[in-house]
Amino acid sequence: MSYHDSYKMKLKPHHALCILLFSPEGHSEAYADAMRRKIQVLDENPQTAITLTAQLDEICGFCLYNNGGECEKAEETEPSDDRVLAWCGLEYGMTTPWSDLRERLDREILAKNRLHTACEGCMYVARCDREVKNKHCH
Ligand code: SF4
Repeated sequence: MSYHDSYKMKLKPHHALCILLFSPEGHSEAYADAMRRKIQVLDENPQTAITLTAQLDEICGFCLYNNGGECEKAEETEPSDDRVLAWCGLEYGMTTPWSDLRERLDREILAKNRLHTACEGCMYVARCDREVKNKHCH
């Protein structure tokens, strides 16, 4: 598939869930604004090419836990990334349209009630769970 005319974005795998279930409550204004911009791009361009990365991504650029390019929560976020990727049947370095990634998250994580395990250790998981119930019918 060619992404020549599409937008492109690099994401840590668990950030696809953060985007899907985002609520600004409890985040800094800069982080919430960055997330809103990403969500708007993805809503308007579902064919945006998402490359899955193990490195810190653009969202990390606005995060309070980004300590000079090192994630202070890596012990929690890296296993989350690995679980999301494995359950979605994807690998680091792969590129897929947002619409496909979103379908995989819905089917393999939300519909199978895997959110709490996927995001184990994240302080926002209860809130994201509420968003699942608000936004999805699983
Ligand atoms: S907690 Fe870590 S992985 Fe998550 S946004 Fe912050 S720096 Fe990035």
